[in-house]
Amino acid sequence: MTTYSCHIAVAVALPVEGTYTYGVPAALAPLATSGKRVLVPFGRRRVTGYVLGETTLSAGYVVKQILDVLDPVPLFPPRMIPFFKWVADYYMHPLGEVIQCALPGGLNVYDRLTVSATPEGLAACDTGDRHPSPLEREVMTRLKSGPCRLKELGGRRVPAALIQTLEDRGWLVREVTLHGGAARPRMERFAARGLGTPPASLSRARQDILALLDVRDEMPVSEIKARVPTAPRLVRAMADQGLLRVYDKQVYRDPLGEPIPPDAPRTLNPEQSRVVAEVDAVMGRGFCPFLLAGVTGSGKTEVYLHLARKVMEKGLQVLVLVPEIALISQMERRFRARFGAAVAVLHSGLSTGERYDQWLRILNREATVVIGARSAVFAPLEQVGLVIVDEEHDTSYKQGSDLLYNARDIAVVRAKFSDAVVILGSATPSVHSCYNARTGKFRELRIRRRVASRPLPEITVVDLKKVTDTRGARRFITPPLHAAMTAALEKKEQVLLFLNRRGFASFPVCAACGNAIRCPHCDITLTYHRLAGVYRCHYCGYARKAPCDCPACGPAPIKLLGMGTEKVEAAVKALFPDARVARMDRDTTTRKGSVVRILRSLKKGAVDVLVGTQMVAKGHDFPNITVVGVICADLSLSFPDFRAGERTFQLLAQVAGRAGRGNAPGRMILQTFTPDHFSIVAATQQDYEAFYKVEIGFRRALAYPPVSRIIQLRISGVDPGATRETAEALGAVCRDLLQREALYGKWVTLLGPVEASIQKIAGRYRWQMLVKGRRMGPLRRFVRAVSSSSPNLFRHPRVRVVIDVDPYFMS
Ligand code: ADP
Ligand code: ZN
Repeated sequence: MTTYSCHIAVAVALPVEGTYTYGVPAALAPLATSGKRVLVPFGRRRVTGYVLGETTLSAGYVVKQILDVLDPVPLFPPRMIPFFKWVADYYMHPLGEVIQCALPGGLNVYDRLTVSATPEGLAACDTGDRHPSPLEREVMTRLKSGPCRLKELGGRRVPAALIQTLEDRGWLVREVTLHGGAARPRMERFAARGLGTPPASLSRARQDILALLDVRDEMPVSEIKARVPTAPRLVRAMADQGLLRVYDKQVYRDPLGEPIPPDAPRTLNPEQSRVVAEVDAVMGRGFCPFLLAGVTGSGKTEVYLHLARKVMEKGLQVLVLVPEIALISQMERRFRARFGAAVAVLHSGLSTGERYDQWLRILNREATVVIGARSAVFAPLEQVGLVIVDEEHDTSYKQGSDLLYNARDIAVVRAKFSDAVVILGSATPSVHSCYNARTGKFRELRIRRRVASRPLPEITVVDLKKVTDTRGARRFITPPLHAAMTAALEKKEQVLLFLNRRGFASFPVCAACGNAIRCPHCDITLTYHRLAGVYRCHYCGYARKAPCDCPACGPAPIKLLGMGTEKVEAAVKALFPDARVARMDRDTTTRKGSVVRILRSLKKGAVDVLVGTQMVAKGHDFPNITVVGVICADLSLSFPDFRAGERTFQLLAQVAGRAGRGNAPGRMILQTFTPDHFSIVAATQQDYEAFYKVEIGFRRALAYPPVSRIIQLRISGVDPGATRETAEALGAVCRDLLQREALYGKWVTLLGPVEASIQKIAGRYRWQMLVKGRRMGPLRRFVRAVSSSSPNLFRHPRVRVVIDVDPYFMS
């Protein structure tokens, strides 16, 4: 039996449970440290694994040995391992795949490792007094012609141990270099006052330059030139005189292409100060979660900036999560203006090289602030002191494929493992977070007023039931909206039109009273299924023949609502032929960078009217938008999901928040069939508390999250028969277990299996089952028991079963 110098625990990037123990041969022992990737034999394959640390081997166990160590430096700090393990356990996902998902995509350090021979090495190899092995000689010979990538040296045939030996011997050196896409810093020429005393006679222009630099300590020469056109010529001469210092300095540009001038902290207003003081009091003293509810434009970001500085002064790091790329750039801009090079960003808009570069800067502690989207929750920070989740209500924090985590939720967990403070901020907090605040899990902070006492936009509600002129373009743009748009466009102000048509199916609405046709057993709207000719509930499977009477007014025409942003765009063009119209929705933003392009033209004033889906509702800051029009608020309300009311409230309050962010006050025209719906009324007042009070009552009555918890089992396959059979078999196994184990009966409720509301996506038929209960613990144990009692159902060759803990997309 082979004896190894040590044993390590390895998580392999495969859909398997648990970790595996491998032996480490002596030569690799110093290299195989936690956080690095290793190449290991697994079955008949060789796969990548992640070193979790040393481990001891139980007696009598025989293990295989690792084949190679793939990274020169660890890819994540070992302190993160307990966090990874927690995530793997909670979402019932293989640990190796969790780590793989955490690391930036395309990260391949192995390829980036170059080695070059030292002169001593070449000489020694040639004189032959060290008798190199044939493989060593081969390596050295190859290196004679210059440095090369490790891969080019013969790939996996040349083990890291051999390179290590040669390096120890002083024959070669290795370097990690970046190739392709590595971000190069942008430099700009700056000028500042020098030590020299100005002579008595100095030209006017030179005096002006000195005067400018008396006010500001330093200025980019380009900016001086804007005031003193001859400056570029003069500064050189003045520098020679000792009057100025001229130097190049790294500058940052926002993705909209504008330079980011440094920015001094604002003096906080009393509400902001109170929030900062309250958080500061507990900072550095262990885990503490906060919910920060502040209306749109209330200066939450300024609060984050102040707190970030305090944390950094304590020598700790800051993690800032933002729901999407377009908003990251805004946040990045403001953090860069304050903290310059201390900021790193992580998001999918970066090239692989850029992302790797940022990752290394974080690992090397060159960056103390990390701003990023969802996956940045895994940023390799060693000592996080503050975690900020901005726009915490945003559903894009939930990942929709592979590891189905919610970054907002695990940000709180990460803070807990790091003994850090976490702040979930929003103008429209999620019902989930409000519930956590009310039940004492989070501490709640409020900012009730906008900065500088700017008013919230004035809101006009238009009752679509009363609008009789419903022909053509005016069906979308009612007279009050038309008037407001005309006035704004005349003043050269911008207009935002919002319609949340994520539509795939039409839904039935009574044309007389505007009520949607709902399920008698669930608080959701039925969906029209044209083929089957029924309205169906996507949670419990209830169906009724279509068309039917309206439950409120009896026999009445049932309208199928169905309109989209494209139709609105056409309507605007018809009514305002001179206006420049742009559209932002999933159809127009499939290409990389397209969102930023649209936002840039909006910022430049090249667009008068922007039409869009919820993408435009998010926290953008465009001071020239004065009118926001909601084409039909009911669309998201009628979405078949128990969170429909919550989403509607959030969307409308957020979209209202886009108006009047500059000096001119804003207006919102809100068109709706249900002006009295509490979600809409609360949104017009940006009153999340009023909304929460009503909504939580519904959630309680129907035992929906956050009052209960849900695990969703999603069953999908290309073959409709096999998919249905698997779904039904899974249902039977669940019911059986529920009956056998009385304990589960008390804690677990099953809904389904039922066909998903989108019955087929990309050729796959879809079914779902909901496992619901008051507490998550028993639900997870139940699903684990089901999966281990019938593993074949979960590993069907043609039908995929996905476990989604805390699901968000239930259609
Ligand atoms: P929120 O994040 O809550 O929407 P922001 O932080 O973006 O609000 O603040 C809105 C605007 O007010 C920004 O332009 C910001 O620079 C400015 N602002 C924030 N706090 C202050 C303050 N204390 N004094 C002056 N201006 C402020
Ligand atoms: Zn139902």
